[in-house]
Amino acid sequence: MKVKFLKSAVKPSDYPYPYNPEVALVGRSNAGKSSFINALTGQKIAKVSSTPGKTRLLNFFELDESVYLVDMPGYGFAKGNQNEVKSWKQMIETYLNERETLKGVVLIMDIRREWSDEEEMLKDWFAANEVPWAVVLNKADKLSRSQAAAQLKVITAEMGAEPPVFSLSSSKNEGFEDVRNLVFKEWGRR
Ligand code: GDP
Repeated sequence: MKVKFLKSAVKPSDYPYPYNPEVALVGRSNAGKSSFINALTGQKIAKVSSTPGKTRLLNFFELDESVYLVDMPGYGFAKGNQNEVKSWKQMIETYLNERETLKGVVLIMDIRREWSDEEEMLKDWFAANEVPWAVVLNKADKLSRSQAAAQLKVITAEMGAEPPVFSLSSSKNEGFEDVRNLVFKEWGRR
């Protein structure tokens, strides 16, 4: 896949021109967002996003000259100071509210965790802004097949919503077919 870093931005006036359909990715830090992006695209693009100075920004990429991908900063740093949390919330909420070419958001979770307040807050923002979303339960390789299936049911019940939910492994590059279809064929279609 051809990947091009476009730019980093915080506020709408700095977003790239809304030329292509766009998909955004968000997740608790350490859930495996970078690994997911790298596996999805087959490139180490998440390296750019983890460069000091770019970790708290929206990082825009162009995939195959047809879809924009936005790597949104992770949440849930235990020591995150309140100003940082506040600016994260403002940046994400503004983006979800303003970006007209946004076709969907993938929320990445560690399959072993529970649905928490932060995921609930994101869910509310998606609903308020009528943004389609999906959940990726990453690190499925850490569980047996039956445990993973059970955990998928538990988290789906906790969500109290019915977005598409995928369980997969970014480090083993397994289980990506359905989420690829959603991101590139459904959301990424012009
Ligand atoms: P981020 O903070 O959400 O970007 O998370 P990273 O992609 O940096 O991953 C956090 C840690 O989880 C790293 O040590 C990864 O190697 C590991 N990791 C990510 N995805 C998987 C996965 O699917 N399976 C396993 N076993 N480990 C993973």
